[in-house]
Amino acid sequence: MASYRDLLNDAKQKIREVSPGEAESELGDATFLDVREQDEYDQGTIPGSKFIPRGFLEAQADGKLGGDKNEPIIVFCAGGNRSAFAADTLQQLGYTDVASMAGGFGRWKNEGRPWITPAALTPEQRNRYGRHILLPEVGEEGQQRLLESKVLLLGAGGLGSPAAFYLAAAGVGTIGIVDMDVVDASNLQRQILHNVDRIGERKVDSAKKTLTALNPDVDVVTYDVRFGADNVLDIIDGYDVIVDGTDNFPTRYLLNDASLVKRIPVVHGSIFRFEGQVSVFKPYDGPCYRCLLPEPPPPELAPSCAEAGVLGVLPGIVGSIQGLEAIKLILDLGDPLIGRLLAYDALEESFRTFKVRRDEHCPACGPDVQEIVIAEYDDLCLPHAVLADGSTT
Ligand SMILES: [Zn+2]
Repeated sequence: MASYRDLLNDAKQKIREVSPGEAESELGDATFLDVREQDEYDQGTIPGSKFIPRGFLEAQADGKLGGDKNEPIIVFCAGGNRSAFAADTLQQLGYTDVASMAGGFGRWKNEGRPWITPAALTPEQRNRYGRHILLPEVGEEGQQRLLESKVLLLGAGGLGSPAAFYLAAAGVGTIGIVDMDVVDASNLQRQILHNVDRIGERKVDSAKKTLTALNPDVDVVTYDVRFGADNVLDIIDGYDVIVDGTDNFPTRYLLNDASLVKRIPVVHGSIFRFEGQVSVFKPYDGPCYRCLLPEPPPPELAPSCAEAGVLGVLPGIVGSIQGLEAIKLILDLGDPLIGRLLAYDALEESFRTFKVRRDEHCPACGPDVQEIVIAEYDDLCLPHAVLADGSTT
């Protein structure tokens, strides 16, 4: 029967070891994988390293290390023994360029090499977000990223309500909400952030109460202002993703141009009677709103919800998909709707996706555009007199 020593020697014969010095020269190139236990990791680790406790390695490696098994990986533990076993396991799983760091994190630290204390979730957060953490593609690291992320919602109405609810529940740390309306009884058919007691209240205040009651981890920042050329760049600055729940063309064009300037992805959603659409406009990576719709349709063909009506629940579905796309962008998960338009028909109960291409002559994101002018638009979406700096033309 083999002893621990035998097994360790056996593992070390099958793997490559590198010194902490050799490992440090690969910081930023190789993936550093910490296979220690949670409490050891919480006290300090190598910057940028991924974390899979040894006991979860087989189950979580493919999810957490990404698809390319030929990328270099440096595994480390506290002293270099668990990492030797882990490196052997990774090789058996098909990873071709794996090394174990001799001496482990202890030697790394003693030699004065860089290390950090990772931001750790509290026990309450580990419990609250447990179903996220169970997903190897999210894990504690992904949850931490959500808590550090900032999403801006345009509108606390039909689309903004479900998006805000789910983003807050998922633990998006900062949620900004722009809305200048007050809650009206006719909103309650679909705008689920609000309720009867809030009629007459500012929508942003009502939204903040609802979201904070759901999840106190979330910092809700409110903008009770008209979203215009004079403030758009300041408002969106610093956000990671914008969820657009506006219902008019002038605001969408304004947001589009500003998001290109700031290079912030926009999750677009729109609803009309029984139909909804969602797409993701990631600046210069895919088409923008103007590539999709260079000019707004004539007003008689584009009545607003107030004129045309909208079925309840429909904004719940469309806004929820917007929230999901925002989370995918933050976590770099799957295939977001970049370059694709998802169309939902509630009467048919069908989803269809259409390809949308970047327009090489796009007046906003095309190669010939010298400078994007952030201007106010009228209902026909022609530039209006007020410019971003407050001056007039
Ligand atoms: Zn464009």
